[in-house]
Amino acid sequence: MSTGRLTIDLQAIAENWRALDACSAATVETAATIKADGYGLGVGPVARALAAAGARTFFVAVAEEGAALREALGPGARIFVYGGHMPGDTDMIGDLGLIPMLNCIEQLTRHFEALPGAPFGVQLDSGMNRLGMEPAEWAAVRDLVMRQGPHLVMSHLACADEPDHPMNRAQLRTFREMTRGLGVKLSIAATGGTLLGPDYHFDMTRPGIGLYGGRPFEGAASVVRLSLPVIQIRDVAEGEPVGYGNTWTAGRPTRLATISAGYADGIHRALSNRTRLFHGTTPCPVVGRVSMDLITVDITDLDGDPQALDLMSTMQLVDEIADAAGTIGYEILTSLGPRYVRRYIGITP
Ligand SMILES: *Cc1c(COP(=O)(O)O)cnc(C)c1O
Repeated sequence: MSTGRLTIDLQAIAENWRALDACSAATVETAATIKADGYGLGVGPVARALAAAGARTFFVAVAEEGAALREALGPGARIFVYGGHMPGDTDMIGDLGLIPMLNCIEQLTRHFEALPGAPFGVQLDSGMNRLGMEPAEWAAVRDLVMRQGPHLVMSHLACADEPDHPMNRAQLRTFREMTRGLGVKLSIAATGGTLLGPDYHFDMTRPGIGLYGGRPFEGAASVVRLSLPVIQIRDVAEGEPVGYGNTWTAGRPTRLATISAGYADGIHRALSNRTRLFHGTTPCPVVGRVSMDLITVDITDLDGDPQALDLMSTMQLVDEIADAAGTIGYEILTSLGPRYVRRYIGITP
């Protein structure tokens, strides 16, 4: 086999959901955000594992993802769509019973006209300036919208991964003002907000990244192992260059393994000369540039020649790779490419 193997621990995902569920009171529902194909890990298996753990409500980014999720979970699950009701979405939303979070007056009008009486939620902008209705816009339509009976009114925090950031309190205050006296289910917390404490929990939390083992959920169980096969091994003499652009030169006689994976598989080129792969517990530095399909790794310090090396495992979590690449775990996970063989362990998918 010449492509990498991505092993996804569904039991760990279920454990992470239970741990995040335990952060809020029993009266607070813990939903699950599984947009972008379950953060790159495969929406079907991830969704079924979460449903088995007890999740009943799911969030996706767009209606098409909602359709895939409905197919995976069947009619019982409640599926909200953050992106709302876009032109062309009506049949999917109506036929599959998706619940759009309506983000603006245009979407409200589209939904009420195309699918009168169909369920919906409302997204409010409490300061992030990305999605949702702003205070003045909301004030103008609030009474009309409330007569239609939204299933959920939500907002999203811009700085929840920084607990002391004043933006958190500011958004909380704005959200409370915008929702005072509504008598409807409310939600503002993703993973970060779930960890900020009960002020942020309202009626529902909707974590994503924490389920998949990423920051800011520091105690998360490790979910992903990425094991990459060695294609070729060679010895290079001191002074010989390696890879495109000669960015690395052997400072000693070096045994070099060439690995079958590259930036086309989501191993960012920014990781060139900046990360390591593991053989068991022994780190082996990436030397030279990451190319499209290949990486070169210094294995001089190993006892024998490996058949595969791990980029991600309990030895090196997704956020360590993200730090080395100058990005966040979310981007590393959602970049994991289609060439990997995805294998699920822990729970039958
Ligand atoms: C992606 C997203 C979430 C989940 O966020 P995490 O940080 O992954 O927990 C929640 N709410 C909204 C609106 C989102 O876009």
